[in-house]
Amino acid sequence: MNPRRSSKPIRIGNVTVGGSAPIVVQSMTKTDTRDVMSTIDQIKEIEDCGCELVRVAVPDTEAAQAISAIKRGISIPIIADIHFDYRLALLALEAGCDGLRLNPGNISEPEKVKVIAQAAKERSVPIRIGVNAGSLSKTANPQLTIAQQMVEAALKQIQLLESLDFDLIKVSLKAFDVPTTIEAYQDIAQRIPYPLHIGITEAGTPRTGIIRSAVGIGTLLYQGIGDTIRVSLTTHPREEVIAAYEILKSLNLRRHGPILVSCPSCGRAEVDVVKLAEAVEEELLKVSKPIKVAVMGCVVNGPGEAKDADIGIACGKGRAVLFKKGKKIRTIQEKDFLTVLMAEVERF
Ligand code: SF4
Repeated sequence: MNPRRSSKPIRIGNVTVGGSAPIVVQSMTKTDTRDVMSTIDQIKEIEDCGCELVRVAVPDTEAAQAISAIKRGISIPIIADIHFDYRLALLALEAGCDGLRLNPGNISEPEKVKVIAQAAKERSVPIRIGVNAGSLSKTANPQLTIAQQMVEAALKQIQLLESLDFDLIKVSLKAFDVPTTIEAYQDIAQRIPYPLHIGITEAGTPRTGIIRSAVGIGTLLYQGIGDTIRVSLTTHPREEVIAAYEILKSLNLRRHGPILVSCPSCGRAEVDVVKLAEAVEEELLKVSKPIKVAVMGCVVNGPGEAKDADIGIACGKGRAVLFKKGKKIRTIQEKDFLTVLMAEVERF
């Protein structure tokens, strides 16, 4: 695994992105931003799962102005997602947003960017230059690959902001195509000092979207690229946050809540391992401590295969062995599998 690329840290509200700060997990609400109560409720739900930054869509004036009321009801910094109309960025700044996302594909006129940069600078609010393969400017050079066009679009906006003496910058270059996304980030990572927000856009429903995101985001993180991640899924943002942490945990980049180790089950198993593992996974959603829990289908291989688990069970016919760090502690009856395991997790 490559060491993390060095980047110039920025502060979004009270959260640092880049530098040596942990890789930040962010998500985006799916509510109508003008519906303040529903938006606050959804943000609180994702805060509970560990979301550290939230972005809201700002399609009109009312949505921009709603940010001040939303901010009073939540604990994490809020980023305003702006397209087309630069005046919405100004309203969002007035309403107290902690970060802005601009799409250079639809706000690129220097005069408009200048007005936003000045207002953002006065408030020390960073701007993400959020390039999206699906909304590249019509002036992009068609001779270049999509990845190159994305990089060019970002560099152009970066130069403009730098010429305005604005450097509270974060960059993203997202595409649906995973190799395109990876190529674009690899290129820009060597050319700018700013932190990178990484993700795969329009990744799909959880079944496919989590895989696309894990491959794309995971590949980049393994190469040391990425300072904040968003997993885009066509479902409740809670699932985005859970998936983001699972990607980070799988690369040992963050410790967050429990890790479940479960065997796939096979002809050796004498209990329904799938059902048991799913029940344990459900219970573990309520646990916040970083603990590795194993659910293994047989006593022959189970404890050995999961010997680095903090706590686990290896099932046999009607009974299971409870083990800690691969060492047998005691035997438990089938009816008590879940309760005893969770009680041990609680005690750990
Ligand atoms: S732990 Fe046992 S039941 Fe599970 S896959 Fe391995 S051999 Fe099969």
